[in-house]
Amino acid sequence: MRRKSGLHFGREKKKVNIPIIKEVVTWIIEIAIVLGIAFVFVYYIGLRTSVVGQSMMPVLTNKQEILINRFIYLLTDPKPNDIIVFLPNGNEKSHYYVKRVVGTPGDTVQIKEGIVFVNGEPFEEAGEMDAILDAELAADGYDAVVVATGSTAKVFPLGEGAPVCTASDILTGRVPCGDRTVVVGGGLVGCETALWLAQLGKKVTIVEALDRLMAVNRPLCHANSEMLERLIPFHGIEVLTSAAVKSWNAGSLQVEAVGGSRELPSDTVILSVGFREEDSLYRALERTVPELYLLGDARKVSNIMYAVWDAFEVANHI
Ligand SMILES: Cc1cc2nc3c(=O)[nH]c(=O)nc-3n(C[C@H](O)[C@H](O)[C@H](O)COP(=O)(O)OP(=O)(O)OC[C@H]3O[C@@H](n4cnc5c(N)ncnc54)[C@H](O)[C@@H]3O)c2cc1C
Repeated sequence: MRRKSGLHFGREKKKVNIPIIKEVVTWIIEIAIVLGIAFVFVYYIGLRTSVVGQSMMPVLTNKQEILINRFIYLLTDPKPNDIIVFLPNGNEKSHYYVKRVVGTPGDTVQIKEGIVFVNGEPFEEAGEMDAILDAELAADGYDAVVVATGSTAKVFPLGEGAPVCTASDILTGRVPCGDRTVVVGGGLVGCETALWLAQLGKKVTIVEALDRLMAVNRPLCHANSEMLERLIPFHGIEVLTSAAVKSWNAGSLQVEAVGGSRELPSDTVILSVGFREEDSLYRALERTVPELYLLGDARKVSNIMYAVWDAFEVANHI
């Protein structure tokens, strides 16, 4: 064949370095194999979790770290006495439960006078069991339990005979309010309660530890806080900021304020110093109910909006 004459722009062919490519491919394969082995190793016998609660005492203690052996159940099924780790109802959001197998499908399990019987034989490992007091929950008539028990007001003593109550006691009428009232805590609840009482004709003083009212739990609804800031002086409510209550004695509340000590004659002292999560029912059920949810103020004290969001999330998930 004749070669074309004139300029020739064709690129010169590069020589491919076969040994280097072979080496790189070998490396990639080796790394993939090592990663694969590491994954299989960690997945089947290297996954860690920690024990939550006292139910496995004395064998395992609360917060004790354990390794999970998944491999064994590729070869065999769980049998009585095995300690197993599982997600209740496969719920990915829950923590791992660590429990001992008492019975397997087909077995009859019974608790009689504190002793666990499996197929009529005492099950030694279970130790002594509490009687099941809440038969309704123990019955298998539900799929999930939602705990929304709200919050409880924080309180502290102010001395013997002190006429102390909470804002909720007053607002719900559980406790009658006297005519000379001190509201301890000038957050949103304290300010709203004080305003309502002043509008009923009571003499009201607010004592707040910080240097201004409604300084905590911000941001607050602007319309609410601005309205309260104007209506509180308008209704003649006395406000002591940077002040701390000490004790109540002989009809007066002792207060340490910036200018010195004050005595506030009072027949009702309303504590409005915050709320704490009321989650005792949730904690009591934690070990017995597989699909259990905690929401609203019981999970984290907040407001109606967050309680509704929580409820939506839970309802969506169930
Ligand atoms: C005085 C005050 C004013 C507030 N003002 C506002 C406001 O203006 N805007 C706002 O967004 N938020 C406000 N909040 C906050 C708001 O009320 C709460 O964030 C919200 O109600 C939380 O809803 P929840 O359903 O989690 O709890 P809650 O509404 O407290 O309901 C819990 C319920 O569970 C019941 N319960 C408790 N234990 C048990 C049990 N063992 N068995 C059966 N029932 C039980 C309780 O009796 C209660 O009825 C205010 C709170 C207070 C105290």
